[in-house]
Amino acid sequence: MTDPVPKPDNPTPLEEILTSLIESHGPIRVADFMADALGHPQYGYYMTNSPFGEKGDFTTAPEISQVFGELIGAWLITAWEEIGAPSLFNLIELGPGRGTLMDDILRTARVRPKFLKAVRVYMIETSGRQRYEQQKKLQDAKVPVTWATEMHDIPLAPTLIIANEFFDCLPVRQFVHTGDKDKACWQERLVGVNKSSKDGGLRFLLSEELHEIPAGAPATAKPKDIFEVCEAATGIVHEIGRRLQDYKGRALIIDYGHGRSGFGDTLQAVRDHQYWPLLAKPGLADVTAHVDFGALARAGRDAELMVYGPELQSRFLTRLGLEQRLATLIKTADEQVSEQLRSGARRLVHPDEMGTLFKVLCMSSAGLGTPPGFDK
Ligand code: SAH
Repeated sequence: MTDPVPKPDNPTPLEEILTSLIESHGPIRVADFMADALGHPQYGYYMTNSPFGEKGDFTTAPEISQVFGELIGAWLITAWEEIGAPSLFNLIELGPGRGTLMDDILRTARVRPKFLKAVRVYMIETSGRQRYEQQKKLQDAKVPVTWATEMHDIPLAPTLIIANEFFDCLPVRQFVHTGDKDKACWQERLVGVNKSSKDGGLRFLLSEELHEIPAGAPATAKPKDIFEVCEAATGIVHEIGRRLQDYKGRALIIDYGHGRSGFGDTLQAVRDHQYWPLLAKPGLADVTAHVDFGALARAGRDAELMVYGPELQSRFLTRLGLEQRLATLIKTADEQVSEQLRSGARRLVHPDEMGTLFKVLCMSSAGLGTPPGFDK
């Protein structure tokens, strides 16, 4: 459960911290605001909230339907076979939330005892609160599970990586085209303190400093366009590249976002399944940005990875056998459970729900060929 919304005149502790930081050091980047709003060690959203499900602020695919984790589990078993069924390998999950996806994956893998004998699970999670949930969920997992805050410390070995709705939490910088049609001029969007209002609060402003066109932005930029840059995502993809250089492996990234780099302000805050003003009450709402799959794919190729996709979640899950799995489950389910299964599957693939906004990207070490679910 989340805490009640404070009154407007009652800033959150994080708002007070950010206000005094800005007053003493000047405005901060949007990325720094986002990093603290989500991950401040004491007051960050993920440190203090249980965000998932009907009672939380938003719902993710593994929380919607067990079929999601089962299909990903089957994909991972195939990937393990494709890398030669190593007798010891890492299965790394980035940002595992409640641990539901990993629980569904490990249940599915019971059909391959050798996979379960070989697996070393690593959960990359910064929030103590989410870790606690994950530990409860996986307490009966009969495989070694280790928690870490970043991938860096995990021993190198053949590796499979899964990240669902993780990259959208990584902080983005925003650059605004403030020139005219003849001359491009870029300024960074910053967060400052609202001095004109007696209630204070945070507000957006632009950097005095001018920037070059941000790396990766299409050359078609027009005045007022905003381009988002996620440096943390590039860093993580490079770390994936380092891990998959000497050892075989695949990484599967699932998230909402755009297939190609483009312009737009995609930053959004959500609380209690509703949009929330971005800068209001930091720490109480989830703050995310759409994932730029074009930028991820470029970073993957820079890191000498083979990149497949992005593919639409609907096509990916359908190709992995969503309908067949659903039919099997429905055979033994009562009317009410069957209806839940059908509506969950629909949410995963329907174009008005998660089917087209959500995309899937695979990055692999060389020589493995096209993975299931992607175009040959
Ligand atoms: N994958 C889950 C949860 C997605 S929410 C699901 O599909 O349900 C994002 C998760 O990433 C949360 O567990 C959050 O605590 C974690 N997280 C956010 N930023 C992180 C970071 N920089 N490093 C590691 N984990 C992070």
